[in-house]
Amino acid sequence: MAVFKKLVRSAEGAHVPHYKNTENCETVKMPVPKRVFVSMSQHIGAPAKACVKKGDVVAVGDVIGTAGGFISAPVHSPVSGKVFGLDEIRLSNGKVQVVVIDTDGLQTVSENVKAPEVTDHASFVQAIKDSGLVGLGGAGFPTGVKLAPQNLDEVDTLVINAAECEPFITADYREMMECGEDVVEGAKLVKQYLNLSKVIIGIEANKPQAIAKMTELTKGLEGFVVSTLPSVYPQGAEKVLIEQTTGKEVPKGALPAAVGCIVMNVASVGFVARYMKTGMPLVTKRVTVDGDAVAEAKNVEVVIGTPIKDIIEFCGGYSQEAGKIISGGPMMGQALTGDDIPVVKQNNAFLVFGKEKATLPDATACIRCARCVSACPMGLAPVEIALSLEVKDVEELKALHTDLCMECGSCSFVCPAKRPVAQTMKEAKDFLRKAGN
Ligand code: SF4
Ligand code: SF4
Repeated sequence: MAVFKKLVRSAEGAHVPHYKNTENCETVKMPVPKRVFVSMSQHIGAPAKACVKKGDVVAVGDVIGTAGGFISAPVHSPVSGKVFGLDEIRLSNGKVQVVVIDTDGLQTVSENVKAPEVTDHASFVQAIKDSGLVGLGGAGFPTGVKLAPQNLDEVDTLVINAAECEPFITADYREMMECGEDVVEGAKLVKQYLNLSKVIIGIEANKPQAIAKMTELTKGLEGFVVSTLPSVYPQGAEKVLIEQTTGKEVPKGALPAAVGCIVMNVASVGFVARYMKTGMPLVTKRVTVDGDAVAEAKNVEVVIGTPIKDIIEFCGGYSQEAGKIISGGPMMGQALTGDDIPVVKQNNAFLVFGKEKATLPDATACIRCARCVSACPMGLAPVEIALSLEVKDVEELKALHTDLCMECGSCSFVCPAKRPVAQTMKEAKDFLRKAGN
C-alpha cells in the first residue's frame, strides 16, 4: 500500500561528506587546446543545427550551430581557427554531432560580439536566447525559455541556486567568491526585466564565506535575501530549494513558476551580467577537477569543447590508474566512458577516482531498515517501489509516485546493505514509462 506523505520533506536527505578540497583554489585559465570538439547537444531539447562546414574560418563568439527548435539553444565557437569538419561522438546522452575546430591560438573575437540592446522583457529574453545560455548547474534547460513562462504575471521570485550540495564541487562557490558582483548584477537584471519583487540566494551553511560575501554585496538592495540552507544533501534539488527558501511546495508535475518562482543556477546569473556588458556568448566554463587519481585538484576555466584528457593533463595528469571518471558530483554525476569526451556547457566538475575508490562494495540483502525512506527528500518509499518493480505492479508503482524520483542518490548513500537503490528507482521509472505511464 502506498505510504506517500508529502512531496518534499527537506529536513531529511543525506548527510554526505563535503570534500570541498578546492574551495580555496582560485580559478585558473587553461590555455586553449590545439583542437576542440563542440557538441551540438549541450542542452535539453532539440540539438542545435551546425551552420559551418569544413574549411570555414571562425572567430570566438561566431554562431556555429543555430537553435534547432523552441526548446533549444544556439552554439558559438569558443575559439578562433578553422573548422576541421563535422563528426559524431558518443556522449552520455547518446550519439551527438560535434563541430571539430583546429585552433589558431589567437583567440580573435568575432565582430558580431557586441553588447545586446535590451529595453524590455522581450528584448531581454531574446538576448539571453542569443547568448546560448542554458542551466549551468547541470540541467542544461535553455534559459531564454525559462525566463518567459506563460504565467509571468504570477511569478514574483527569483531563487538563485547556490547550494552546491554535491561533494567535491566548488565551481559555484568560486563564482560567488570571484564574481559575486556579477551575480548581484545579473540578479538585478532578471528582477528588473521580469518585474519580480524578490531575489533569494540559497547557499548551504557549509559556505560561510560565500554567505558573508553575498550578504555584504546585497546589503540595502530592495527585495534581496540571502538564505542559509542546512548542509543536508540535496538542498540544490529544485523542489527542495524552493521549499527551503520560500516555504512553498511545487505541486506534482508542475514547474516552479506554478508557485511564483524561477530558479537559476548562480553561475548562470553571473553569466547574464557579463553577457549584457560584453555580448560574449557562452564559450567558456569553470569546472572543478578533483579525485584521488588526478595529480592536482583545481578549479579551471576552459573553452567549451576542450577534451577532458587535456584538462586532466593541465591538472598534472593521472596520479594513478583511473578507475572511474565522473562528470558532475558523486551523487548525481555520470560515469564517463573515457577521457576523450569534450566539455559541454552544463559540466561543472570532473572527478577522477582510482580503482579502489571506484569499486562499489558488494550489496547484501535488504534488511527492511527503511533508512532509504527516511532519507528520500521526495517522501518516497524506495523499498516498497523495489518490491513492486519485482512483481511488475504498474498500479502500485503509480500509487507510490515512482515518477517523482529525481535520482538524487540519497537512498543508495544511506543504505547499510549497500544496495543500488537509486539505480532500482531509475529502472522502475523506465519500466513505468515503457508501460505508457
Ligand atoms: S534517488 Fe529517488 S528514491 Fe532515492 S532518495 Fe533520491 S528521490 Fe528518493
Ligand atoms: S536502506 Fe537498504 S536495507 Fe534499508 S530498507 Fe532501504 S534498501 Fe533495504
